[in-house]
Amino acid sequence: MTKDYYEILGIGRDANSEDIKRTYKKLAFEYHPDRNPDDQDALDKFKDINEAYQILGDDNKRAQYDSFGSISGDGNFGNAGFSSNLNDIFGNLFEEVFSSGFSNGGQKGRDLKYELSISFEDAAFGMEKEIVIPKKELCGTCDGKGAAPGGDSVCGVCKGRGTMDYAKGFFAISQPCGQCRGRGYIIEKYCDECEGDGFIRTEKKVKVNIPAGIGDSSRLRIRGEGEIGMGGAPDGDLFIVIFVEEHAIFKRDNNNIYCEVPIDFITATVGGEIQIPTLGGIESFNIPEETQPGQSFRIKGKGLPDLQSGRLGDLYLIINIDIPKNLNSKQKKVLKDTLKDIKPQQFSNLDSYNKTLENEFKK
Ligand SMILES: [Zn+2]
Ligand SMILES: [Zn+2]
Repeated sequence: MTKDYYEILGIGRDANSEDIKRTYKKLAFEYHPDRNPDDQDALDKFKDINEAYQILGDDNKRAQYDSFGSISGDGNFGNAGFSSNLNDIFGNLFEEVFSSGFSNGGQKGRDLKYELSISFEDAAFGMEKEIVIPKKELCGTCDGKGAAPGGDSVCGVCKGRGTMDYAKGFFAISQPCGQCRGRGYIIEKYCDECEGDGFIRTEKKVKVNIPAGIGDSSRLRIRGEGEIGMGGAPDGDLFIVIFVEEHAIFKRDNNNIYCEVPIDFITATVGGEIQIPTLGGIESFNIPEETQPGQSFRIKGKGLPDLQSGRLGDLYLIINIDIPKNLNSKQKKVLKDTLKDIKPQQFSNLDSYNKTLENEFKK
């Protein structure tokens, strides 16, 4: 089954991102399950709309989709993310729909982005970190009015309503009052504290809970910690982008971690106990005899927790065999005498290979 996302949203292929967003919001609002209870068709349509917007609303995914044409629903992007993020989408949608266009004339505060570098261990175990963000806050002296106490008067044009109604055909159109710019009052004396802005710039400490197992470049969203909303609209959100520093010993792949472990050639040959690093500390590990270079051992449950399930990944030891250097002549002699019959296994059939070559040349 292939889907034409442009058709689903009812827009042309040349639609710009603003058009796409506007159309999506309109359709999503219309087909939202809360407005269409027990209506399977509306729900299907709503899912399609969301799926289409996940692709077309993202410049990179849209470009990919445009170059491959209609793709099947179970392809690379398709449904991915919808089912697992159902609640999130409903939540986001409501916030978006109501914060722009359906709220009472206010403007949602801007989202803020904060980049935070954390250590490998902090990503593994999770942590709580306090960060300081610049923030505009409502001026406490004037409650955001911008006027000094008693320094304002009701707007004579709109009589304090802040809006003016105009009849246009059948419709009554409401617009912000031009005289007071929608405030409903005229400032005669500015507030000393905020100099009439209604806001003061402060710094705010925000606690960030970083979940154990978080990956590099993850984004955490803290609702309501962005810039303050105007006219009663909600505050923006704070997005924390997490960068995880590299580790001196461990490499990470999703929830598994990898560690290169050097062992001496005698332990590799006859086996023995060695000390290995794990996230929880140094532990003992038994190297079996005849361990080969590059061989790996999996230690279950010593990796990082999965963000959703909490299930622990594994630790992989990749064996590296140290060949001794700077042996003295006596040591070399002992080794040679002891191991003189040991030959590498790989070319044990060199003789037969040589015979094949000779036969080839004789032809
Ligand atoms: Zn007015
Ligand atoms: Zn003030």
